Amino acid sequence: MKRVFSSYNLVLAHHARNLLEAEGIETEVRNQLLSSAMGELPPTECQAEVWVLNDEDVPRAFGVLRRPPPSGPEWICAGCGEPSGPQFTHCWKCGAIRAG
Ligand SMILES: [Zn+2]
Repeated sequence: MKRVFSSYNLVLAHHARNLLEAEGIETEVRNQLLSSAMGELPPTECQAEVWVLNDEDVPRAFGVLRRPPPSGPEWICAGCGEPSGPQFTHCWKCGAIRAG
């Protein structure tokens, strides 16, 4: 297993995970719960991390994560009305799949 992404932003970590899973790369997000304890633990303990389970997928995973984010307008979730960035395929708030 190898860590391929880390961020204090859990949404970004899940986005990275979604990109990898879409490519058929098995991943695991760690430290999610610790993020809520920010301020009580050293910052390095609070980052959300994305780990690739199979080492042979690691080079491909880095390739996926280095892709430039798609550009375009924000889109509005049909489920809850929240705007999300063009790079997201799911609503960050309610998890609904992007329509259109
Ligand atoms: Zn939503």
